[in-house]
Amino acid sequence: MTERTRPLNFIEQRIEADLRDNKISKVMTRFPPEPNGYLHIGHAKSICLNFGLAEKYQGECNLRFDDTNPAKEEQEYVEAIQEDIKWLGFQWNGEVRYTSDYFDQLHEWAIYLINEGKAYVCDLSPEEAREYRGTLTEPGRNSPWRDRSVEENLSLFEKMRNGEFNEGDCSLRAKIDMASPNMNMRDPVLYRIKKARHHQTGDKWVIYPSYDFAHGQSDAIEGISHSLCTLEFEDHRPLYDWFIENLPTPSRPVQIEFSRLNPNYTITSKRKLKLLVDEGHVESWDDPRMPTISGMRRRGYTPRAIRNFCEAAGVTRSLGITDVGMLEYAVRDDLDKNAPRAMCVLRPLKIVLTNYPEDKSEELSAPGHPNRDDLGERTLPFSREIYIDQDDFREEANKKYKRLVLGKKVRLRNAYVIEAQEVVKDEQGNIVEVHCHCDMGTLGKNPEDGSKPKGVIHWVDAKSHLNCQVRLYDRLFTEEAPGAGGKDFLESLNPNSLEILENCKAEIGLAEATLNDHYQFEREGYFILDSKRGSREYPVFNQTIGLKDTWEKADKD
Ligand code: ATP
Ligand code: MG
Repeated sequence: MTERTRPLNFIEQRIEADLRDNKISKVMTRFPPEPNGYLHIGHAKSICLNFGLAEKYQGECNLRFDDTNPAKEEQEYVEAIQEDIKWLGFQWNGEVRYTSDYFDQLHEWAIYLINEGKAYVCDLSPEEAREYRGTLTEPGRNSPWRDRSVEENLSLFEKMRNGEFNEGDCSLRAKIDMASPNMNMRDPVLYRIKKARHHQTGDKWVIYPSYDFAHGQSDAIEGISHSLCTLEFEDHRPLYDWFIENLPTPSRPVQIEFSRLNPNYTITSKRKLKLLVDEGHVESWDDPRMPTISGMRRRGYTPRAIRNFCEAAGVTRSLGITDVGMLEYAVRDDLDKNAPRAMCVLRPLKIVLTNYPEDKSEELSAPGHPNRDDLGERTLPFSREIYIDQDDFREEANKKYKRLVLGKKVRLRNAYVIEAQEVVKDEQGNIVEVHCHCDMGTLGKNPEDGSKPKGVIHWVDAKSHLNCQVRLYDRLFTEEAPGAGGKDFLESLNPNSLEILENCKAEIGLAEATLNDHYQFEREGYFILDSKRGSREYPVFNQTIGLKDTWEKADKD
């Protein structure tokens, strides 16, 4: 179903009702990543949702780094996240924003709550506070510091701010209800002491606001109309609303939750992805096997495929697993339509065409794409020696094997029909060369003897080709739910997720490939140049994804 024909999802219904009822005049959303890792496929869903809604309803979407936690955040991530969003094809409204831009305002609002008698400095240690908090089945108990006077609270909070206490000595808490069935409403922490340098504010602050105290107010400052987040924040919504009701905020955003994207055979936890990088299970955050946006980009996934996948996955409130095959389908579908064709022999076997003159060479031509005239024609040099794939030759085979067999014929894609006549082996009995007869009258025609070879195989000219490395990838995890059942997720790592093939033979035109070019290597899959490895003389191609039904397709040719 395309975006235009599907029914509205529940968030769109809500937005359309709010516009109709004049509750809002403009749709304002935001994407609020914490800069503590690279973005992954789950974030892509949130990006497509937030930026997509803004586009659909002629609104705006802000990019706001949720940087309330000074210790874990890094500039490297801030930059990578912006690059990923732009690559997906979205542009945020105005400048990049940071929650830390609002630290002064949030601090003022904390003082406002103290003055209203709705916040207090609590001296319970973190352990004691946990004990006082109660459990899901038992109410909490009031902190002994809950009834301090406004003056005392103002003065203590001032001291907290001035660095006169140590981390953990005290915190600022909202005075709400220690008996609330919702644990988030049991006098939540607004500010805690953290003597850490912050990547945006430097050493200005030694107290930092909690996520809950910062998020909704930042939304209100920015005039966000709909603050979309994942379902685990549903229980935080009463607190989100409490702050908006009890503070003189300039606007009244609403929080709406949707379910996380959770693809099988995939990890979407930044903490676990970071572990894969830190422990060297993968090469980097943008390793082509990683479900990060940068990894998918390097692997050759396209923004359009990722956007189509997010659209197809839909927006709901039901928990569930999405088949990663849907993402792979979206990638194949996009590349099938748009990637020019090329030939590359991954495991070369030399073929000598014994009747083809030694000094002759030709330039054959082939379409750039079978049904895209706009992708033009390509030139294929052809001469006496060529390479085919080792898998495409057998000395003997049954009828089902429709490739080259000793004594039988096969068509070389976009070229002649050849017949295998003799096998040359080395001392160990390995096939090193196959001598064939080339039927010179078969360019674009069937052989004159009326035979019609069923098989079509790909090939590359031995004299004029591009030598290259090809990296084949498989899923990073062998299990649908890596780490399920209390197991270490690392135990589900696929030991064969990367296969490196050296001295592959690609058609010479690929020497012109650039980092933006996707190709279908005919009968092998989709490939793209690796952005970090290889040279002009010896480039490296990453397999983006295989063709779905390789042999079925080859048989149809
Ligand atoms: P992680 O668990 O990987 O650290 P997070 O939710 O803490 O994820 P944030 O940087 O806070 O990461 O996420 C930014 C935005 O992306 C949030 O609004 C969050 O809800 C959303 N998001 C994160 N993961 C997913 C997911 N799997 N599906 C949909 N949205 C997601
Ligand atoms: Mg988060």
